[in-house]
This record gives sequence, structure tokens and C-alpha cells, in this order.
Amino acid sequence: MILSRLSVSVVAVLCSVTLLVAKELAADVNRLVGVSQIDITPDYPVRLTGYGSRREEASKVEQRLRAKALAFGSDAEGPAVLVTVDNLGVPASMRTEVLRRVATQSKLQSERFTISSSHTHCAPMLLGLAPNIFSMDIPAEHLPAIERYTRELTDKLEQVILAALANRKPARLHWGIGKVGFAANRRSFPIKPVDHDLPVLRITNPNGDVRGILTGYACHCTTLSSNFFHADWAGSAQLALEREFPGAIALTAIGCGADQNPAPRSTLELVTQHGEALAKEAKRLVNEKLTPVNGALVCRTKNIELAYSKLPTREEWQAIADGKSGGVYHAKKNLARLDRGEKLPTKLPYLVQTWSFGNELAMVFLPGEVVVDYSLRLKHEFDRTRLWVNGYSNDVPCYIPSKRVLDEGGYEGGGAMIYFDRPTKFAGDVEDRIIKAVHELMPKGFLAK
Ligand SMILES: [Zn+2]
Repeated sequence: MILSRLSVSVVAVLCSVTLLVAKELAADVNRLVGVSQIDITPDYPVRLTGYGSRREEASKVEQRLRAKALAFGSDAEGPAVLVTVDNLGVPASMRTEVLRRVATQSKLQSERFTISSSHTHCAPMLLGLAPNIFSMDIPAEHLPAIERYTRELTDKLEQVILAALANRKPARLHWGIGKVGFAANRRSFPIKPVDHDLPVLRITNPNGDVRGILTGYACHCTTLSSNFFHADWAGSAQLALEREFPGAIALTAIGCGADQNPAPRSTLELVTQHGEALAKEAKRLVNEKLTPVNGALVCRTKNIELAYSKLPTREEWQAIADGKSGGVYHAKKNLARLDRGEKLPTKLPYLVQTWSFGNELAMVFLPGEVVVDYSLRLKHEFDRTRLWVNGYSNDVPCYIPSKRVLDEGGYEGGGAMIYFDRPTKFAGDVEDRIIKAVHELMPKGFLAK
């Protein structure tokens, strides 16, 4: 009796799910999509980056690191590739080299190529990214492993992109926006904005099998700080989704989470908890009615420059170098540059990128550790129901403060610039320069009504 009642209720549930799927508008299957992944966990000891306090090489693997790629479109229309990678940040120099290699073997062009770093703080250091994080030179005995990993990651990013391009086949795209609450504003100032949106892009075979799930969330991957390899909550979320959807590859892009930390944090139990929370909400969306994405993909980039505020004079550099602040190493480096007759940069090159799928979905990709004010402002000026904003994209040159955060000061407002080897904080117009470039790139149909 109990069994048969159960069967009836199971059948009823199945019917309602079928009805739900039937009601959803089906996306066109004429789009080609490829999905791939590659293991990027080193099998040798290497220094991690993200925290200045860890000074020994890591060798323990607590969770494997991965890079993943999504390839959209045929060669005739020009393929587009989105890569996610478990690292603090892939520098622009590595993106350029990967693109150069892939472009010799495919029709991939810069506008249609984006790399999103997860910003996990438990992955190897790369050459060219936050070189001053330890406030000292890397010891000579630690350099070969960092150089080796930088070379190997470049090779593996090339491989994972080529694999996604080779894997392209007819697919349907759908997307929607959910909510997850574990990101908390970490700054000790009274205004504490957050962005808890969880955009989800679902890639299915024409028969409905889930092949890929791309999620985005505005939060630091800093649940953990131990000296082992781990992809933090982004990795745990991907593993949970891949468990729920066997055969699918899950990817995580990071939003404007520069001033957001996971809360609470610091244990392996908590990193699993955050990953499972994200995966639970993403699973709910994947199984629900989502918006079809049928429009042609238009990709645009604009190279702009972000001006620094007035640079210190030689005397001011000398005073910092003679002092006891955390800026001594940075000041000495810059004094040495001046002694060699070098000019210190007065601006930072910055690549703003937008991808729009018809009038259904627009994505913004911004380099660096972008504070949450940017996504909140863009979601106010553009239609937030059709917008997906990513930070940590294509380069991670430093923190990117808003005008408010710049004026408030603190770590994200300018204090962290020394760790990225930037000469000083940004000038007051940094936010307006970036927002203006997004407006220039974005199709006008996405403006807020
Ligand atoms: Zn950070």
C-alpha cells in the first residue's frame, strides 16, 4: 500500500516536471557549442599566491585545480571561447600568448576570447601577477617551479581551448538569474553593498541532456588560506554540479567581488557548504524554466587607459623606503627603476569587453579585482534582467575601486596597489572611464528603460 502510494506521487511529480519542461520555450539547436576541461594541478611543489604570509612551497592536493572552456559558434561566423581557470589571476601576457597560439590553429580573435580567473588563493603563483605580494624577492630555489607552472598553464589553456573548439556540436542555450547569499561585504566602512545574483547559463544537447553549466558569482575565493591546492568555493560548486548532472562540465566565472568575502570562512567544511549552496541554487535553475538564448553572439572590446593619481616624487619614494611601512619593498623597487633612468607608468592599459547574444543576454567582462559598485551601477544603467557582469577577466592587474571606494581608501581603495607593483592609487575618474567604455560597447537595446 505504502509503496503504491509512493509510486503514484512519483508519477505525479514526474508529470509536473515534464509539463514544466514542455512549457519552456525551446532554444534553437542551430548553435554549435563545445565544452572541455583539463586538470591543471601541479604534481610538484610550488609556491601559492594570494596571501603574503605563506612562504613555503605547497605540495598537498586538497582539491584538484581545473581549467575549462566553452566554445560558441561555427568557423564561418567566427568562434567565441570563454575559459574559466582555477588561479588567482591569469595575466594579460599569458592571455596574449594563448590567443596567439590558438589563432594559428583556428579563427579565434581577441574580441571573441575571454579568460575568467576564479581568484582561488590556493593555486600556484604565476610570473607577471601580483609580483610584490610577499614584499620580498622570491628565493632563487623557488623560482624554477613558478616558471615551470607558468609555462605549463599556458600550454594547458591552449589545449583546453582547442579541445572545446573540436568538441562543438549542436546545442541549446538557456539562462536565468538566481540568488545565493554567502558573499558578504568585507570592508570596514559603513556602506556595505553586496550583489547576490547568480546568473546561470545552461548548455544542453538537442535531446535535453545537460552538457555544461556556467555560473557567475561576485565573491572572493578566499574561504581557505592553508598551504595546499584547492579551488575554493568555485571548485566545490563545480564538483557538486557535476555530481548532480553526470557528464556535464560546470564552469564558474567571478563577478565584481573584490570587496566581498565568503562568510563564514576558513575551514574545509565551510568551503563545501558554500559550494553546495551555489550548486543547489544553480541546480534549481537548471531544472526550471529558463530563457532561451537564440540571438547571434556579438563580441566587442575597447582598450582604454586608467590614469593613476599623482606619482610620488623621488624624495617621497625615499622617505617610504627609509620607513617601516609595508611599502618599503615597493618603494625600493621604484627607486631602483628611477636610478636606471626608467620612467614610472602614469596609466594602466585596460581591456573592456562585452558579449551580447541578440537582445536576450549581455555579458560584460572587466579585468582586475572589480568592486561590487560596478556591477550594481551597470545593473542600474542597463536592464538587469538581461545583464551578466564579470570581473577577474582577461587580466588581474590590481584592484579596480569605484569612486566611492577610492575616496574611502583602505585596501581595495589603493592600499593593495603595492602588491601588484602599480606605482600609486588611481585618479578620481577611474569608475567613469570604465563605465563610459561599457556604454560605448554595449548595444543600446540593453539600456534600462
Ligand atoms: Zn583579491
